[in-house]
Amino acid sequence: MTPTAPDRLVLVGGTIHDPATGRDGVIDDIWIEGGSIVARPTDPSSFRQIDCRGLVVMPGGVDLHSHVVGPKVGFGRRVAPHLARSPGKPAAVPTIHATGAAYAALGYTTVFDAAIATSAAALAHLELADLPILDKGIYLLAADDVAVLNALDRGDACETERLVSDAVRAGRGWAVKVANPGGAVFWRKGRGDHHDLDAAIPGHDLTPRRLLERLADAVQAIRLPHPLHVHTANLGLPGNWRTLLETMRSLDGRRAHLAHVQFHSYSGGDLDEGSFGSGVAPLVEFFNAHDSLTLDVGQILFGETVAMTGDSAAAEHLAHTTGVPWVSHDLHLSGGCGVLPIAYKEKSLIHAWQWAIGLEWFLCATDPWRVALTTDHPNGAHFTAYPHLMALLGDAAFRRAAFDRIHPAVRKRSPLKDLDREYSLQELCIVTRAAPARIAGLPQKGHLGPTADADLTLYRPDRDLARMFSVPAKVFKRGVLVAEDGHVRATPTGGTLAAS
Ligand SMILES: [Zn+2]
Repeated sequence: MTPTAPDRLVLVGGTIHDPATGRDGVIDDIWIEGGSIVARPTDPSSFRQIDCRGLVVMPGGVDLHSHVVGPKVGFGRRVAPHLARSPGKPAAVPTIHATGAAYAALGYTTVFDAAIATSAAALAHLELADLPILDKGIYLLAADDVAVLNALDRGDACETERLVSDAVRAGRGWAVKVANPGGAVFWRKGRGDHHDLDAAIPGHDLTPRRLLERLADAVQAIRLPHPLHVHTANLGLPGNWRTLLETMRSLDGRRAHLAHVQFHSYSGGDLDEGSFGSGVAPLVEFFNAHDSLTLDVGQILFGETVAMTGDSAAAEHLAHTTGVPWVSHDLHLSGGCGVLPIAYKEKSLIHAWQWAIGLEWFLCATDPWRVALTTDHPNGAHFTAYPHLMALLGDAAFRRAAFDRIHPAVRKRSPLKDLDREYSLQELCIVTRAAPARIAGLPQKGHLGPTADADLTLYRPDRDLARMFSVPAKVFKRGVLVAEDGHVRATPTGGTLAAS
């Protein structure tokens, strides 16, 4: 298909949700010229009109934490071929072309892969070049590089900054991610899946806490658009809420983004899954009081998917817990990934807790501008389940009906039973586009003011929010109509977002 972008376009009379410019359900026109949004022109006669009366208009969706390329995604397709054959459902790990098409049909126009080893960056970009429609970028696991780790170990800030900056430039990265700080070293020494932030990293005069602090400082010093993207230690383990709290305390005063907090908010102890529960309350209290921190939730939703992580230790723990065969891939002894199929079940005590814990985060975090809606695709759920998640947030009755189906012990103990908050359309707009664009450092995205990229999604208002957000009436990417009623209409090539 050849994308055709009329140079001048006006979307007439839509109901605008644009939190960045303060428009909350206001009827207005959106003027587009050369792929960007422009102010109302003095001579509107040359602008082709599109009637948007009765439609909700939002900026295109921005997914700031997903997994769409790189070795782990390839392994994901191989370990779960059965999930590629479910009739009527997207594959758990779609092909790169299907990924772009499905995101665009859903109204998303920007995506980041959140975990690429520096040595895999070139391959990731080759794959990303085939991802149609969306603008895209990668976060680099720079702290897994031996030279960077050694510079962090020495506390050599200049050398750390130089190496991280070089890695971002060479790998055309957008941000730096740390997946289980020092975890690759712990894991190779056979004790990867459980250590606190003050344990010495084997062979180094360094702890995960110092690593986080020094790396966050380096990322800040080299002025990357997005702060350090932190997947902290002990992912998925009972009692790991303490690790996340310590992580937030260490990073306090610095800008930092906390990835998939749902997987890091569990109470219980001594690796005892019987004592598993929610540790969200003290965490969200700290988070709400500290403006320099942002997060994405990594919500799980019930169903089958594939877990994939640069944190091999976490994947190994999960594989041993579930008894499911897994793939571990080592990259030049400096990082790697673990991949395995997983089925989240309503009646599983652990899975029901995970589901409730993610929603508790969404409903207790007071500032939606510091929260990004994610499922850590495909780890918590496929990204095509975002509309279902939006309905869980925006419709308390829908959420209550889902809550009534989960494991009874969780129904009894989860604070979710007392949470009545409903996200407004404006708040759903914030957590799916405005906030992730701002958190990721994308001034052209996530809003509809002049100079913004003309990435827009038009929805039919519907009390059934899952239906409303599943099938946008129209999706525009830089002024090109790319999807309509769930069908892809054009496949322009998106841009690569590189920080330098
Ligand atoms: Zn992730």
